[in-house]
Amino acid sequence: MRADINEFIENLTRRTPGENEFHQAVEEVIGSVWDFYEKNPRYQKAKILERMCEPERVIMFRVPWVDDRGEVQINRGYRVEFNSALGPYKGGLRFHASVTLSILKFLGFEQTFKNSLTTLPMGGGKGGSDFSPKGKTDGEIMRFCQSFMNELYRHIGPNTDVPAGDIGVGGREIGYLFGQYKRLKNEFTGVLTGKGLAWGGSLIRPEATGFGAVYFAQHMLHRLGQDIEGQTVAVSGFGNVAWGAISKINQLGGKVVTISGPDGYIYDKEGISGDKVDYLLELRASNNDIVEPYAKEFGAEFFAGKRPWEVPVNIAMPCATENEVDLNDAKSLVKNGCTMLAEVSNMGSTAEAAEYLSEHCHYAPGKAVNAGGVAVSGLEMSQNSMRINWPAEEVDLRLKDIMKNIHDTCVNYGLNGHKVDYIKGANVGGFVKVAEAMMAHGVV
Ligand code: GLU
Repeated sequence: MRADINEFIENLTRRTPGENEFHQAVEEVIGSVWDFYEKNPRYQKAKILERMCEPERVIMFRVPWVDDRGEVQINRGYRVEFNSALGPYKGGLRFHASVTLSILKFLGFEQTFKNSLTTLPMGGGKGGSDFSPKGKTDGEIMRFCQSFMNELYRHIGPNTDVPAGDIGVGGREIGYLFGQYKRLKNEFTGVLTGKGLAWGGSLIRPEATGFGAVYFAQHMLHRLGQDIEGQTVAVSGFGNVAWGAISKINQLGGKVVTISGPDGYIYDKEGISGDKVDYLLELRASNNDIVEPYAKEFGAEFFAGKRPWEVPVNIAMPCATENEVDLNDAKSLVKNGCTMLAEVSNMGSTAEAAEYLSEHCHYAPGKAVNAGGVAVSGLEMSQNSMRINWPAEEVDLRLKDIMKNIHDTCVNYGLNGHKVDYIKGANVGGFVKVAEAMMAHGVV
């Protein structure tokens, strides 16, 4: 690493010890914007990068709730309001046992650049709790969400901070959070996105991340004179995001051969489509994260405790969680013929894997590929402000347009000979707009 970048990261590490995921995310961004930063002394003088790495506000709070046995449980809640240069803080809430401040800072930091790439007026934020809805009853989840909102409500608002879902937070949780906000504020307003259709939600929001990711992958392929049709794709996860991606890949004539859960992965050479996708929805609705039953139902192969990056595919689309593709996985993907990895999870690849994939195939990072989710959240905010609902076709058209713009931005800032460095393209493209807005706002 260059000495000046090294010094920057060392300073950051000293001030934020132990926040490994956050340091990883910052290092990736700094590595690609540094040259650009150096050429702009006015940014340096204003310490734009240093300011971007410090969240504007971090809120941490106690979330007490009573479980079904009558026992008091205590979780920790967070909201990281990272950057409001472009608009109200915007980003999801993650409810999962693995949630720490470091993870939410990495996600909030990434979100700032991702939201900038969408071209919509949204700043960056992220929040959540170390509470896992998995294995909890509906009543427990409702009481937890109500307690979480009892503190969060005073920090958010439709023009201040607009949370949404992320891992562990879907339509049900957004409903309970919204209900409690409405009760506390006596106000029906677009304070959360990912709402139900009957009460302010947007069509296409549940599918948006997966659909947008496939639109982005399509642009990557078109640049190379290829198409999704006929391609074999490995997908990980089987939540909302994976489901949206699988549906769109099938619709466009591609073949998805894997999905995964915490128990392992399914390899279905025939392709996961039609009834099999419906079956996945049922499996998920049963609040059962494990994928093994799919293998028994459809006679597919199941690999316990493994990730799907060892099967021969043309394209990989990780849709589960951060660092789910490591260097070994990246090498095995490339060795088995994979020529493109469009990352749908946030920071789905480790730094070494991302570097290897960028060199040996076509790789695009989550902040560009998965931006369709938050983009449609932005469109939900617009519809809420106007108090109207757009038809699905309109939302989908806008989503397509946004994903095309994001791809164009990546090419614009990342073109290197014939190849596009999507990491650089996404980072510099996202950075420029935030930096310019921060410059205009003065030292605040
Ligand atoms: N959690 C999603 C993301 O990582 C969506 C955030 C939102 O819709 O605000 O971008």
